[in-house]
Amino acid sequence: MDVRETESLSPDERAAIFDRESGVEAVRDDVVEIVERVRTEGDVALREFAEEFDGVSVGNIDVTDEAERAVGQVDDDLREAIEDAAENIRAFHERTRPEDWREEFDGRELGRRFRPLDHAGVYAPGGTAAYPSSVLMGVIPATVAGVDHVAVATPPAEELPTATLAAAEIAGADAVYQVGGAQAIGALAYGTETVVPSDVIVGPGNRWVTAAKAEVRGDVEIDFLAGPSELLTVADSTADPELVAADLVAQAEHDTDAAVAAVTDDEELAEEIAAEADRQASEREREEIIRGAFDSEASGVFLARSMSEAALFAEEYAVEHLSIIAEDDEALLDRIDDAGSIFLGPYSPVAAGDYASGPNHVLPTGGAAKRVGGLSVETFLRSTTVQRLDEESLGEIADTVTTLARTEGLDAHAESVDKRFE
Ligand code: NAD
Repeated sequence: MDVRETESLSPDERAAIFDRESGVEAVRDDVVEIVERVRTEGDVALREFAEEFDGVSVGNIDVTDEAERAVGQVDDDLREAIEDAAENIRAFHERTRPEDWREEFDGRELGRRFRPLDHAGVYAPGGTAAYPSSVLMGVIPATVAGVDHVAVATPPAEELPTATLAAAEIAGADAVYQVGGAQAIGALAYGTETVVPSDVIVGPGNRWVTAAKAEVRGDVEIDFLAGPSELLTVADSTADPELVAADLVAQAEHDTDAAVAAVTDDEELAEEIAAEADRQASEREREEIIRGAFDSEASGVFLARSMSEAALFAEEYAVEHLSIIAEDDEALLDRIDDAGSIFLGPYSPVAAGDYASGPNHVLPTGGAAKRVGGLSVETFLRSTTVQRLDEESLGEIADTVTTLARTEGLDAHAESVDKRFE
C-alpha cells in the first residue's frame, strides 16, 4: 500500500479519492433491456436470464418452502450465530422506530404518524458468495416497521446456499425467490406471475443490480444506490498499526473495487500501517481481491499535517464506514458529519457492524453519505401529518392564511376560511 501526503495530492488524485464512481453507467443500456423484458414477459424472462447469466435451469422461482426447511439443515453453530445476530439487529432497529406523536402548538393540535409500506423487496446478493448477513440487514428493519409482505430475491443456483435461505426464514421473510441481478430488481418492481410487486426495494448488489435500482426508481422507492464497500480509518499515534491494517484488509476482501484508506498525522504510524496491510494481505485467502482493492485510486494511507486536517480529509471523503482510533475520538467524531456508519475505538472493528453488533450494514457509498443515511426502519415507513384546529386556533391564523391565499390569487382558499366565521 502507498503512503501519500494529503497536501501534495494533485487535483486528479483528489477527484479520484473524493468523487468515487459506482461504475453503473457502463451497464445501463443492458439493464434497461433486461428490466423491460421482465416487465413484458414475466416469469419466462426470469427463467431465460437465469440460464444466460447464472447458468441455471430454474424450476420453481418461489423457494419459500426451501427456506423454511433450511433452518433445520444448517449446522447448530451457524443457526445460533444467525439467531444471535438477528436478535441484536432487531433490538437496535426497534429502538430506532419513530413514534407517532400529537402536540399542541398555540391551540392547534398537530401530529405525525408512521405507517409501514405494504410490500418490501430485499435483494440478497449471491453470485460469487453467499451473504446471509445482508438478508438479516434488509429483512429485519422491514419487519420491525411492520411491512405486511417482505420478499427476498437472491440469485438462482443448482444448490441455493442454505445459510442465505435460513437467514431469510429466521429474519421473518414472507417469500423467497431465486432470481438475481437486474432481472430480480425488475421483477420486484413490477411483479411477475410468481413475484409479488414491491413498494420499496432495498439491498446491495453488483453493478447490474445497482443500475436496475436506478432504473426502477420513481416507479418504486429504493433505499439508495450502494456501490463497492469503503472504509476510512482516522488514526492518531496511539493507534495500533496491526489493528488498523486488519480492518483495511477485511473491507478490501469484499471487492477489487472496494476503497480502503487510513489517514493520520503520524508518519511512522502511516508507514507501519502500509507495511502491515501488505503483510497481512499475503496471509489471506482472498489476497488477489484484497490487492485489487489496495490498487483502487481512492485506497491508500494518507499522511496529514495534523489531526484537524485528517478530520477535514474524512469529512471530504464522506465514507461508507468511518473508523476513529485515537486518544480523543469523541472530539474527532464531533468534527466529522459525513459518514454512513462510525466505529469508535480499537474494539469496534467494522466486521462487528458488518454482522452482529446491531446497526445496519447497508450504507451509502461513493460520497452519498453527504446526502443520505443508511438502510433503516424509516426506509419502510411513510409518514402522514395530522391536524385538528378549533374555532379559536383557526381564528389566530385566519388573517395570515387569507392574506397569503389572496396574494397567490386563490380566492376560494381564503373564502373557505372566512366562511367558518360568518
Ligand atoms: P449479485 O447478486 O449482486 O449479482 C449476481 C447477478 O448479477 C447474477 O445473478 C446475474 O444475474 C447478474 N450478472 C452477472 N453478470 C452479468 C452480466 N454480464 N450481465 C447481466 N447480468 C449479470 O452478486 P455479486 O456479483 O457477487 O456481487 C455482490 C456485490 O454485493 C459485491 O459487489 C459485494 O461487495 C456487494 N455486497 C455489499 C454489501 C453491503 O452491505 N454493502 C454486502 C454484501 C455484498
